[in-house]
Amino acid sequence: MSDIGNARMRQLSTIVAVGRSNERDETFVNMPVYRGSTVLFSSIEQRQKSQEKKFDQALSYGVRGGPNHHALEDMIAELEGGTRAQILSTGLAACTTALLACLRAGDHLLMSDGVYGPTRDFATGMLGRLGIETEFFPPEEDVGNLRKLLRPNTAAIFAESPSSHTFEVQNVPMLASLKERQDLKLILDNTWGIGNFRPFEHGVDFSVQALTKYVCGHSDVCLGSISTATEENFRLIRGAALELGQYASPDDCWLALRGARTLGVRLRQQSASALRIAQWLADQQPVVQLRYPALPGSPGHEIWKRDFDGASSLFGVVLAPHISVEASHRFIEALKLFGIGASWGGFESLVLPTTGFIRRSFPAGSTEGPALRLYIGLEDTDDLIEDLAQAMQVLA
Ligand SMILES: *Cc1c(COP(=O)(O)O)cnc(C)c1O
Repeated sequence: MSDIGNARMRQLSTIVAVGRSNERDETFVNMPVYRGSTVLFSSIEQRQKSQEKKFDQALSYGVRGGPNHHALEDMIAELEGGTRAQILSTGLAACTTALLACLRAGDHLLMSDGVYGPTRDFATGMLGRLGIETEFFPPEEDVGNLRKLLRPNTAAIFAESPSSHTFEVQNVPMLASLKERQDLKLILDNTWGIGNFRPFEHGVDFSVQALTKYVCGHSDVCLGSISTATEENFRLIRGAALELGQYASPDDCWLALRGARTLGVRLRQQSASALRIAQWLADQQPVVQLRYPALPGSPGHEIWKRDFDGASSLFGVVLAPHISVEASHRFIEALKLFGIGASWGGFESLVLPTTGFIRRSFPAGSTEGPALRLYIGLEDTDDLIEDLAQAMQVLA
């Protein structure tokens, strides 16, 4: 993230200003919260007209959203490098809505084995009951083997990069190249890559974000988004979201807008801190592997360097095979500055065990020893290293 190009500078400037009104001579920096279900119209004709605008950013009906939704849509579309975005109640709802929007009974879905657990559960659960077959593929599968998995009824590929917990980096342009053979949609869960991976430049059709994570950034909001780069794809998503009754609270959208204003500086600080900590960990005797795409030598580093502008601060650590899973749990519990918890993206550092807590169809990541996941927050880097060092004494 050393040099920020012109496009990125403009992006950061846009994100600071999104939602501010230019309509008056004086205005607050932040827009107000617009709460509402009923929209009143000046005439029946006006009401009639508004009903035809369900794909527009118009005030027409409560669940179709208001000014806070529209401002957040614009901000997320800008961050993702798309043209439009739909806001959803959670990150998981963004994953499920994107899938429901492109699939029908009888379809075949290819899904990376490394996706977020509840996304997998939705595919094997509800999609299965609706007559959609999901086939998992290893996240690092090559193009030849993936081509062999394509069937005439394969309607979508769902990937997440890097993988949840094991951090394999997807070759997204290669996945997009599979679309040449048939009318396939490529859905990417780009939560880790927020602001650093521009999905539509690599052939993605639908980019999913758990805004719950870095965008909201303060561990107090659940929200999701799906961004698109064509009007056709946007209509597919917005149509599905409205049919499903998807909605997000304007208060939460307002908090997401506020959180996102500082996203650039948080990501820069936290990824620099994460890189230093990962480098330090790589030299420690109980550690056999770092799974942090931004770290040279880490799995997926070459693809990361080719496709990403920067990194987030979530990565995996694999311990030596002689260390038991129980000992790795004692290490986790000995940490004082890392909370044991799942929903990363806030200002506080987190840790979770990986081994025994993820479900995969294929061997995942390094199987050498027990693995764990670290999320680096905004604490002082030296303090975090000191904490890791003192907790490591339980492994001696
Ligand atoms: C957290 C997360 C989600 C789900 O987000 P929620 O808002 O908690 O539903 C989806 N995908 C990824 C990669 C995540 O990390």
